[in-house]
Amino acid sequence: MFDQQRALVAQACRVAAARALVDGILGHVSLRVDDEHLLIRCRSDSDNGLAFTRPSDIRLITFDGNEGAPGELDGYRVPNELPIHTETLLADPGHRAVAHLHPPATVAASLAGIDIRPIYGAYDIPGAWLARGGVPVYERAVLIRNSRLAKDMVAAMRGRPVVILRGHGITSAASTVEQTVLQAISLNELARMSLRVNAAGGVLRDIDEADWDDLPDLGSGFNVDAAWRHEVARLGD
Ligand SMILES: [Zn+2]
Repeated sequence: MFDQQRALVAQACRVAAARALVDGILGHVSLRVDDEHLLIRCRSDSDNGLAFTRPSDIRLITFDGNEGAPGELDGYRVPNELPIHTETLLADPGHRAVAHLHPPATVAASLAGIDIRPIYGAYDIPGAWLARGGVPVYERAVLIRNSRLAKDMVAAMRGRPVVILRGHGITSAASTVEQTVLQAISLNELARMSLRVNAAGGVLRDIDEADWDDLPDLGSGFNVDAAWRHEVARLGD
């Protein structure tokens, strides 16, 4: 059941690791399959980390963390931070997929007090628009292991697709698994570039307002397929 979706979520975990959005075993991606069930990256005793996620690591569970079908949690553990996924999914019916990741560059930029701003344009148009709309920060560095904290995080998200969790990581939500990871890649690139400009002694400033007219937001449908093909090709699997 859900073989294709499990393979996609596993692939998304591997892409996230390949793009330095996680380092090691922490982080997870989920996909809502109906009103009561989601597929999510779980852990087992043979787990080798996000970079080596197998389709079998993606398990079907209910929104309250129980197994979604007999045997789904045999030998697997649901992430402690499951409430990040369930509360983000429940907050907006348009959210079908969630990625919770610990990207070092994004965490470093937030610890350095750098706001994510549209500092470039055509270099990465989806990233520029993501920054222009605002990237909020959830100020607490806690492990988000209950729905009270997860609701706080969702409130801090203010309806935006991504939120930075200061001293922790990010949460990215979208209508597709691919988009959650692609926008996390864009966010991390904004952070990485901001850190580089800072380190070079440069000044971070927003691009000119007049430039936005010629930075067409072609919509996720245009960009996502090609960008995802590239990410999968980079994996070499
Ligand atoms: Zn976390």
